[in-house]
Amino acid sequence: MGIGTGTAALASGLPLRLLASARPDENPLAGSVDRAWEKIYRDQYKYDRSFDWVCSPNDTHACRVRAFVRNGIVTRLGNTYDYQTYGDLYGNKATANWNPRQCAKGYTFHRVIYGPYRLKHPIVRKGWKAWADAGFPELTPENRARYKFDSRGQDEFMQISWDDVFNDIAKALAAISTRYSGEEGAKKLLAQGYQPEMVKEMGGAGTRTIKMRGGMGLLGVIGKYGMYRLNNSLALLDAKIRGVDHDHARAGRNFSNYTWHGDQAPGHPWVHGLQASDCDFNDLRSSKLIIMDGKNLVENKLTDSHWFIECMERGAKIVVIAPEYGPPSTKADYWIPIRPTTDAALWLGVTKLMIDRKWYDESFVKRFTDFPLLVRTDNLKRLHAHEIFPNYRSPLSAEGPSMKIQGLTKEQHAKLGDFVIWDAKKNGPVAVTRDDVGETMTKKGIEPALEGTFKLKLVDGKEIEVATLWTLYQTHLKDYDLETVAEITQAPKNLIEQLAQDIATMKPVAIHQGEGINHWFHATEMNRASYLPLMLTGNIGKRGAGSHTWAGNYKAALFQGSPWTGPGFKGWVAEDPFDINLDPKAPGKALKAHAYTKDEEPALEGIFKVKLADGKEIEVATLWTLYQTHLKDYDLDTVAEITQAPKNLIEQLAQDIATMKPVAIHQGEGINH
Ligand code: SF4
Repeated sequence: MGIGTGTAALASGLPLRLLASARPDENPLAGSVDRAWEKIYRDQYKYDRSFDWVCSPNDTHACRVRAFVRNGIVTRLGNTYDYQTYGDLYGNKATANWNPRQCAKGYTFHRVIYGPYRLKHPIVRKGWKAWADAGFPELTPENRARYKFDSRGQDEFMQISWDDVFNDIAKALAAISTRYSGEEGAKKLLAQGYQPEMVKEMGGAGTRTIKMRGGMGLLGVIGKYGMYRLNNSLALLDAKIRGVDHDHARAGRNFSNYTWHGDQAPGHPWVHGLQASDCDFNDLRSSKLIIMDGKNLVENKLTDSHWFIECMERGAKIVVIAPEYGPPSTKADYWIPIRPTTDAALWLGVTKLMIDRKWYDESFVKRFTDFPLLVRTDNLKRLHAHEIFPNYRSPLSAEGPSMKIQGLTKEQHAKLGDFVIWDAKKNGPVAVTRDDVGETMTKKGIEPALEGTFKLKLVDGKEIEVATLWTLYQTHLKDYDLETVAEITQAPKNLIEQLAQDIATMKPVAIHQGEGINHWFHATEMNRASYLPLMLTGNIGKRGAGSHTWAGNYKAALFQGSPWTGPGFKGWVAEDPFDINLDPKAPGKALKAHAYTKDEEPALEGIFKVKLADGKEIEVATLWTLYQTHLKDYDLDTVAEITQAPKNLIEQLAQDIATMKPVAIHQGEGINH
């Protein structure tokens, strides 16, 4: 407001006394204030009843939310503030630090429920409904066009009742399974261009043309994994259509959840044998160095991001590795810009720096990692104890941690075997079991050599050379010097060095890799490489340490089967449809699981039956035969379409290679990346 305006206000006689300064000698709180106005807020927040529910979308946070109901309508959502009361069967309780939870989506979910865009009834594509009403006629090219199977995107949806939708789905499953069953069905599929191997694999069951997936099932085991249950139940349909017995009934095919979702770190099983390593989120506040590698703990971890904010308050350092400067980078002490898909090279470069500069915990490396294990240089496989010790019998105890705590079975151990280290004290090879780590190893007086190449004689008399994994890594890492890594990753050299130094000097260190980058082809390598700096510094198996992806995998454990609990969630997704247990109080062990479905194993041709030495019959195929199947996808037309290369030149190239000699192919370092 300008001077001119003030003058106008004075002239109009507004009550400017309200703007007069309070008298300094008066106590402003001395009088009573009328608080009747507060009633409006009390009325507004009044509710008739409340109930709690769990918000469980793909973000996997599963916040418990309290809904407040008035006149039968949820008027608002809020926190339960009771996380400190949650406990497990053993009495372990969460702390009050988990309060509050929820994000803005959780707070406003009732608006979606009551909002105008909520779908409150089933819908069906108009063309599909017309096809159903016509009795599911065969999809000839004309029928495809008539029912818009070849232009679904241009069709419209229409409302349908629940009764009709269930009926139509059931009728469609029956019609499709009937049409493609038996010899006639196989002929139809071949005529439609399906590969003969696929058709053969169906074994005459039309139900095998149906493929279902229960997406992100662990966020809704009953609802979402119900798709797998339905699919398995198609064995009933097959038995009816083909008149086969239970043993020969075949249900539909399953899309593998792991393959098609791919959030989890594919490299983790390579390192430690577990499907994925996930810490609980309160573990973040224990870290002193948090490295987000393609991970967004700010936006994607919503309600749980406060744990890492708290670790900042406790003096931790935050590093972000990502091509873009995004929300996590704004919280970072430093951001390492990186060329996409080069994370593995970065971790290998960091590892090399740490080893070259002796920034590692030698005692941890020797006692807790596989770096001292001996590897045969002739086949690059780890040396097994039975290969060099005649009549070797493993001393692994059935009472030790591997079997007793981690559940390793005798059969699994027989497959794994025991490995060998070079004992510096004895100056010779010594067998080590899976239990021989840390204190156990020290108590046995084993002193593994970290470095070295040795000559050994196998039990069959053959002389071989072995080297420690550590020694072999020195060779491998030669390609990842600072200059090269900076060139590959385009990350600034000083920041790569800084990262190596921080990992070496701070503890605990945790690396969080994103579910996003887990979907990419470099995922296995970058997951594996991220463990190396942690193995060098003992940042494994401790609070606030480790490499994690947090794809919600921990929840799977709740539904696993075991000899003492029954088939677990398999009792739901693959309960034998011919032998369903309808007792609502039946214990898990009383459920009979039997999978009639087929997953995503490839179909083969040119299969031979052979007998193994132990008498077991197996199927084998030549690699040549398998390649015929593989290469079917690469006919000239398709390749020209994929590559956009001229067909005549592709043919010319094939002919030249076939008719000229010698031929050399030189592939560029650029495309090797
Ligand atoms: S973070 Fe938000 S969306 Fe996710 S579970 Fe909690 S309330 Fe629901």
